[in-house]
Formats: sequence, structure tokens, C-alpha cells
Amino acid sequence: MRDIQNRLFEEIRDRSIFDLSEHYGLEYLATVFDRNVFPDGEALSNLALFDEKLPLEFTPSKEILAKLHHCGSPATVAQVGGRYFGFVNGSVVPAGLAARLLGDFWDQNTAMQVISPIAAKLECIVEEWLRELFGLPDETVAGFVSGTSMATFSGLAAARYRVLQRKGWDVGEKGLFGAPKVRVVAGTHAHSTVHKAIALLGFGRENVEWVESDDQGRIVPEKVPPLDDGTILILQAGNVNSGSFDNFDILCDKARAANAWVHIDGAFGLWAGAVEALKHLTRGMEKADSWSVDAHKTLNTPYDNGIVLCRDREALVSALHMSGAYIVLGKDRDGMFTTPEMSRRARIVELWATLKCLGRRGLGEMVLGMHERAAQFAAELRARNFEVCNEVCFNQVLVHYENSDLTREILRKVQDLRVCWCGSSKWDGRDVIRISVCSWATTPEDVRLSVDSFVKARELALGEAEDKRTGRTELLSKD
Ligand SMILES: *Cc1c(COP(=O)(O)O)cnc(C)c1O
Repeated sequence: MRDIQNRLFEEIRDRSIFDLSEHYGLEYLATVFDRNVFPDGEALSNLALFDEKLPLEFTPSKEILAKLHHCGSPATVAQVGGRYFGFVNGSVVPAGLAARLLGDFWDQNTAMQVISPIAAKLECIVEEWLRELFGLPDETVAGFVSGTSMATFSGLAAARYRVLQRKGWDVGEKGLFGAPKVRVVAGTHAHSTVHKAIALLGFGRENVEWVESDDQGRIVPEKVPPLDDGTILILQAGNVNSGSFDNFDILCDKARAANAWVHIDGAFGLWAGAVEALKHLTRGMEKADSWSVDAHKTLNTPYDNGIVLCRDREALVSALHMSGAYIVLGKDRDGMFTTPEMSRRARIVELWATLKCLGRRGLGEMVLGMHERAAQFAAELRARNFEVCNEVCFNQVLVHYENSDLTREILRKVQDLRVCWCGSSKWDGRDVIRISVCSWATTPEDVRLSVDSFVKARELALGEAEDKRTGRTELLSKD
């Protein structure tokens, strides 16, 4: 037997490397809720320890795990904890993390039922659960993809297929050259991944009819141009800055009357539709044709985990499968028919486990908790004289202080203090600090600590500004 095969058999029989990875993982979890949210300078400079040429010889897995633990873990961002408010990134529900670890042992390929009956089964179950949670039509199908980028791409591919098929044009066979025109209508606040999908699908961003948005980033319904059956209308549940929602009720009715296709990008916001107390935000969303949503954001599954939902099964399958609509007729669920990928890992395992663990009630409590912590953030920051620039309808808070320079400086200090982590954005032409509460683990105390850190950061920034000013005064007095 070859040397490498012997060594690999040895490692798999001697289970200690798996014990070791569990041991390191648990050590990580034990500290991640209390530690600095962002790695310190030492941890970052230690990343240089990974610099090496691809080794020629075998390295024992124990050594590899030790290196990851000692040099890698300290340079992670504590996203799992409760004080990471950057971008719109979720934590992990323990059941999802644990189920993923188990699923990793299985290493299933979910392309077809015959390759993984368990993955196919769980995909069927979760598809049904999602229809029920979001109140979507019975015929809605799901594709389990890597994230909302892929989900939006897939939903818009289905839209492109259907809109052109209605005009007697099979886009899969004939392509876009010489095709009847497809109109794409979207809000000026559409997420950058919508722009990307538009480019990938050959629509061309220049050809999009961009619709004016209001002060919260919502499409103004009266500004939507007349729609027709050759149009794809792209809406948004959860503006990535303000967290706002388009008015689906009015906009979907308009689209339906014209037989246009509606896609909703609901990366993090669609989950509001699964929560009794927040449902008003997504009213009418069930009248769309396709939806994209992330599990790895609001639902707090591990990365990468996104879902495309589509009420037109034939369009989705025809768009994503190489050979025509008739393939739908197979009785089994073959996951690859509703995703761009053929081979995929079984991300459904952690998605199923997370939903099963939380249940409808737990999910509602968790998501409502995110909204409540965001509202707390806004109230406490206002009480400390920060300006909150958006209506905090969901989990996003945009913060400004006096001017853009000072706001940027305060953010830099907040990041240096490492008590919490937030990113920046632009809102209404001004620099803002963007807070996204997206972790099940965020407590009222986490918010208080973070607000204290904002206040400290402002003192530091103002102190430095004052030093600069007096420094300049001294210089001036010398003249
Ligand atoms: C995060 C996000 C996306 C992109 O999702 P990925 O999972 O990162 O691919 C798209 N739209 C909105 C509104 C988002 O917040």
C-alpha cells in the first residue's frame, strides 16, 4: 500500500485528531462570547506564520489543527458572539453548528436523491416548512444554495426563462442575442448582488429602469413605470442600510395586473414575514413569483446557507437545468434541478436542525429579539446625543454624529476599542456607522456595553480634535 494511503487510514482509525478538533472548537466557544470582537495586532501579525510554500511531504493532522488553533483562532472575528454588528452577519444556533459537524462526517453530495437520500428527505421537509413559515403558495419550490447572491441569480434566471418563453423564445437554447427585449425594473437601493445578478444574466445594468426611493430606501410605488408581461420587477425585504421593506402589497398587485414577474431580495428581511409581531413589514410578499433569503444571516445557521424560493417550478428547473422542462416529471427530489450547482455539500442538515431546534415560537422570539435590541441601541444612542438616521423598523440602525469626518473618526475608535464591531456606510450623502443586530446571542447588556463604547470613542475623537485645534492655535499664535 502506498505511504499516503497508510497514513490516512492511520489517521482515520486513530480518532484522536477528531477529539482534538472538538477540543479546540469547544475552547474557542468558551471564550468567544467575552473576548475582543476584532483580533488584536499580535494575532494579525501572527498570520505571517502561515506563509510557506506548498509542502512536499505529509504533515500530520495534529500539527495542522494545532496551527489553526494557535495561529488561526486568535485572528478570527468573534461573529459567533453577541457584540458583532458588522455588515449583516449572523451568529450560529448551537443545534445548527453541532448538526453541521455531524453532517461533515457524512460528507454528502446533494445533487441527486440517489447520491444522498437523507439530504433529499431533509430538503423536502424544509421546503414545506419554509412555505408554511413565509405563507407562500403550495406550489413554491426551494433551491438550497450558498447564499442570497446565488439565490437572486437563480430567481432572476427563472424570471428570464419565463418572460422570454411567454414570447415564444427559449433562452436556454437560443440565448440572448436577438431575443425579445426583457425589461428589468428595480429600486435605486437594490443590493449590489442584485446588480451582479443583472450583469451575469446578460440584462446589462445600463438597461435597468431604476425607480426612485424614499428617505428610507423604499421604492416609491407611484414612480414605478407601467409594467407589462415582458418585465421583471425586483423588490427588497430589508434594505441593507436602513432595514426598510418595499410595499409588496401595492407593488405586487401592480405587477400581477400587468402579468410581470416579481422577485423579492429578502436576504435577511424575509424572516420578518415568519414572525407574528413583524409580519406587517412583509405584507403582500406572498404575491411575488420568486424570493431569495439567507439562512446564515437572521436565522443564524452556519455559513454558507441561502435559499431560492420560486412559485414557478417549471421556470426555475428549466432555467437551472441543462435540458428542458420535461425533467421535472421525475418523482424524486433531485436537488440539482433547483440550484445552479450540481454537486453541493448538505447544508440542508444545519438548516433543518436550526429550524427544528427553534421551532416557530423560538424563531419568532429570536428575530423579535434582534429588533428589540436594535430599538434599544437606537434609544440609548439618542439619549447620549447621537443621531439615529433611519426608522428602526427591523434590525438595522444608522448612526451619525455632527459631521461625516467626526462620525468616521468615532467609528475608527469604536473599532479600535474592540468592545463591539460595526462597519460604515453612506446614507443620504453622509457618512454613518451601520449597526446590524443579527445574532441570537446579543443581550441588553451587550447593547449597553456597546453604547458605552460609542460614548468613549466619541470622547477620544473629540479629545483628539481639540488637541489638533489647540495645536493649530499655538502655531497661529507664533506668527
Ligand atoms: C447580504 C445580502 C445579500 C447577499 O447575500 P449573500 O448571502 O452574501 O450572498 C443580498 N441582498 C441583501 C439585502 C443582503 O443583505
